[in-house]
Amino acid sequence: MTASPLALFGGPPAIQTTLPLFNTIGDDDIAAVTDVMKTGVLSAYIGAPGAGFMGGPRVRALEAEAARYFGVKHAIAVNSWTSGLIAAVGAIGIEPGDEIITTPWTMAATATAILHFAGIPVFADIDPDTFNIDPESVRRLITPRTRAIMAVDIFGQSADMSALNAIAKDHGLKIISDTAQAPGAKVGDAYAGTLADIGGYSLNYHKHIHCGEGGILVTNDDRLAERMCLIRNHAEAVVRTDDSQALGNMLGFNFRMGEIEAAIAVGQIGKLAARVASRQAAADRLSTALRALPGLKTPFTPQGLTNVYYVYGMVLEPDALGVSRRRIVEALQAEAVPGLVVGYQNLHLLPMFRNRIAYGTGGFPWTSPYAGQDVRYGPGLCPVAEKLHSETFLGLNLCMNEFRPEDIDQVAAAFAKVWANMDALRTDAD
Ligand SMILES: *Cc1c(COP(=O)(O)O)cnc(C)c1O
Repeated sequence: MTASPLALFGGPPAIQTTLPLFNTIGDDDIAAVTDVMKTGVLSAYIGAPGAGFMGGPRVRALEAEAARYFGVKHAIAVNSWTSGLIAAVGAIGIEPGDEIITTPWTMAATATAILHFAGIPVFADIDPDTFNIDPESVRRLITPRTRAIMAVDIFGQSADMSALNAIAKDHGLKIISDTAQAPGAKVGDAYAGTLADIGGYSLNYHKHIHCGEGGILVTNDDRLAERMCLIRNHAEAVVRTDDSQALGNMLGFNFRMGEIEAAIAVGQIGKLAARVASRQAAADRLSTALRALPGLKTPFTPQGLTNVYYVYGMVLEPDALGVSRRRIVEALQAEAVPGLVVGYQNLHLLPMFRNRIAYGTGGFPWTSPYAGQDVRYGPGLCPVAEKLHSETFLGLNLCMNEFRPEDIDQVAAAFAKVWANMDALRTDAD
């Protein structure tokens, strides 16, 4: 093999250009922001019963457009998707100590949202091919305290909603869908996020579309929608009845989105389809090139789903290659491959869970009389997620850079170069 020397060993890097940062903000967004600025009213919310309770005109326009686009009865704008997740957990009406089964292979806010209402996150393992929560693992973790499943549509494609909905039906559970990374992904004809009791999307800067910071909740349930609107805006000060049956968890927050963010976000929804199509084209082009490389699995999308590729998720076979992931990553980084994601998350291994120190240091909520005593965290709990994290997962962040076709070709060439030099990596003492 007459491959040019790896950049790791002093050769020229395969990628010589700096990829442009992805940017969805245009003159239309600037004009929309200017319009808001001219009104002087940057938020029209009032945390009291009355006309201002549901927010200003841009917030309501965003909600109408999001409900139309995603095909749901209610869309509710919030100031971040973390806020959205917290409102969702409060809205489904859990009691302290109730268990919600979720995945460790996600951003931390998925699990901390459960703790904010003194619920107990229970971590199921993930599917080795899709990286989404494994329904069989969920089934094994159900106890009399289980109230809900918090599914995550990780890296751009839906969790197995038909299996999860079947489990939820069997056991009377609610499902919340964290679709932060998969806006615009499809499950058959439906949008990911709309097949749960509550779902929703992040609008932070790092996601497909954004308004700086923000989030959108979606639901077809009137009662859940009402409860989320209350939690968003100081519920305790707003509800005026003493119907305590229906008013649990109405400890409110200020999760209100401002008019500037809403004015940007409404335009972003119109850009989502093109954005998704460009990520899919980039991913397909990359898969065509990388599929031929031995010891590397390109992303797997189950039948009937579409993937919007927030992260292009691959699995290495270091044993078959005879080279560790660490060494391969060093070689790819030296070739200037941008956006490598080495491992992801194992939330069940975080000190907060292993040491049970979410509130103070006394173990609350796990030590409260309401909580079960058999919830476990720590190594060995989720072997699939642990192995992917420490040894085999390698991703490419497709949402930070533009990745035009010529950029994808450069990335593919860098991988091909490293693979052509695998012998050199194998024999080099590392
Ligand atoms: C980004 C993200 C969140 C949090 O969204 P914010 O809008 O940043 O609060 C939650 N879950 C997942 C899976 C995410 O990727």
